[in-house]
This record gives sequence, structure tokens and C-alpha cells, in this order.
Amino acid sequence: MKGVVFLGSRACEVREFPIPEPIHGEVLIRIMASGICGSDLHVYRAGGSAPQIAGHEPCGVVEAVGPGIVRLKVGDRVSVHHHQGCGVCPACARGETVACPDDQCYGVSRPGSFAEYTCAGERNCIVLPESVSFIDGAFMACVGGTAFAALRRLAPTAHDSLAVFGLGPVGLSCVVMGHALGLRVIGVDVSPERVALAMTCGADAALDASAPGADAVAAVRDFSRIPGVPWSDGIDFVIETSGSTAAREWILPSLRREGRAAIVGVGSTERVINPSDIHGRAATILGSVVFPLGWSWDLAKFLAASRASFEPAVTHRFSLDDAPEALRAADEGRCGKIVFVP
Ligand SMILES: [Zn+2]
Ligand SMILES: [Zn+2]
Repeated sequence: MKGVVFLGSRACEVREFPIPEPIHGEVLIRIMASGICGSDLHVYRAGGSAPQIAGHEPCGVVEAVGPGIVRLKVGDRVSVHHHQGCGVCPACARGETVACPDDQCYGVSRPGSFAEYTCAGERNCIVLPESVSFIDGAFMACVGGTAFAALRRLAPTAHDSLAVFGLGPVGLSCVVMGHALGLRVIGVDVSPERVALAMTCGADAALDASAPGADAVAAVRDFSRIPGVPWSDGIDFVIETSGSTAAREWILPSLRREGRAAIVGVGSTERVINPSDIHGRAATILGSVVFPLGWSWDLAKFLAASRASFEPAVTHRFSLDDAPEALRAADEGRCGKIVFVP
């Protein structure tokens, strides 16, 4: 089978691998869709994944079952949570496989999803409702689940206002789900292409913060105001997905009193948030990293019930043979989600 390996320093190649054999408790999955994620790009730009197959958003069809499989059967359509976990430690018991000391992450410490097949633990396989596409299942495996978790941790109610800073795949997923939850959503990014995509994904407003004279905080506060409701000044919720210093500086001045924000983006290590500003606004700022395994089932239910889809965020679909071109496009960032459809 074909598999994509990152060689480091922005090089990658398609190699031939034997089709893997599922061990006890695993199934073999024929990959139908696998997205390129921002965290893949860190590996692609730096040290690479070689000799490991890269990619951690597997979604496909169960092709064969290994020994000890309880529930899954050949032909099931599944999305795979990308942190395998040991299954028996306290973190895994809470579903927080990302915090497991013996975690294996697809495409990093076990073979990834930029391939025709991959093996996955049965516990990590979420069966897709009929109405949920393979591409939506690939989103569920990482970026869509991450966005779902940030929203769930913030716990907004319908008609609340939400600002999403950073409109890459996680940010666009936040826009899709914020819209589906009945929130009023404004997106902010420095890429005009991504700002336009946010509107396609259901944003009520979107701002290109790189445009001359653009003022993200003023735009977000303007957006938050409801005519005839003078106390509606300041956004109810912020999700920061860019990891940039600038966007983190916008969080507190954008929020209303007692507003809540989630830090999701990996990036800057500069200390730009002053605790006195959190105190003065009685604000809540929380960190949100990945998502508990059980929430994947909730997300599948949410997608089926709401008929929401992440697909409007997809701008490119590539075959595995075109991996170098796909990674170049993702690296440039003038795109939405890029998905391999082997
Ligand atoms: Zn990811
Ligand atoms: Zn564990």
C-alpha cells in the first residue's frame, strides 16, 4: 500500500508499505479520508516523521478485524480518535487519552493515516451515523473534536455571541459548530482567503485583521452590540485558535464583563495576558486541548442531529500520490482544510 512519510525540512515522499495486520484488539481500516492538520505541519517543517507514516485524522471502513474484537465488524464506517492511550490508566479512564503517560498518537508514535490502510484500537473507533460523511469523520478525529470540546467547555447558549480568532481548520470548525448551535459568530484572521471561507462556514461577520486600518477589538465589540440593548457591549465568548501573540492580546479587551475565553491554539510563549485584567472583568480564561474519547460519540450524535457539516471548510482534495503538492499548499496557508481522499 501507499503511505506518506515526512522527511523533515518540508520534504515528503510516497513510499510502499506492506498492508498492516491488526493485532489483538485492533481493526484494519481502509482509509476513505484523512485531513492535513496544523500539527502535521510542525512535523513536516521540522524533523519529519520518517520512517513512520504521517497523519492523524483517520476515517474509513473496517476492512478486517483482529483477535479480541467485541463490537466492530467488517464494513463499519468509523472515525478514529487520534490519541490511542494505554486504556487502563486514570487519564484513559476519564477518556483523556491525550494525557496518558503511555499514549500513542497516530502518525507520531504509531503509523498514521496518510496511507491506504491503518490499524486502530477498537476503543478509539467511533461508528459514523449514516448521514455523517467520511470527510466529516476525518474532522471528528482531531480538528472538529477539538473545536467541539472548546465550545462544550465554554458552554454558550443560543444567541450568545462568539468571536473565533484564527480561521484555520480548527477555527473554521468552531464557526461551523457555533453557527449550528445558534450562536452569533464573528471570525478574525489575517488571511483574506480564510476570512471569506468563514462566511461560507456560517459566520455572521468576518474580519481581515491584516487590512489597512483594521481593528479587531473594535470590530468584535461592534459586532457584540445588539440594537436597543445598551448593556450588550463586549463579546460573550472567545475561542483563540491561532496561538499568535496579537490574537491573545485581543481576548480580554473583546470580552464583556464575566465573558469566557478558551485558549486552543499552540504557539507564542510571550506573556501577554495580565491577571489584573482577568480580575477586573471577572472573566474566565480556560485552556482546551484535544477532547475526551467519549465526546467523539457526542460529536457524531451532534452532527447527525444538527445536519451540520465541516465540508464547507474543505478547499482541496488530493490523492496520496499528490502528497508533495498537498503539503506545499497546506504549508502556504492560503487555504481551508486539505484532505487526502486515497
Ligand atoms: Zn490534529
Ligand atoms: Zn492510559
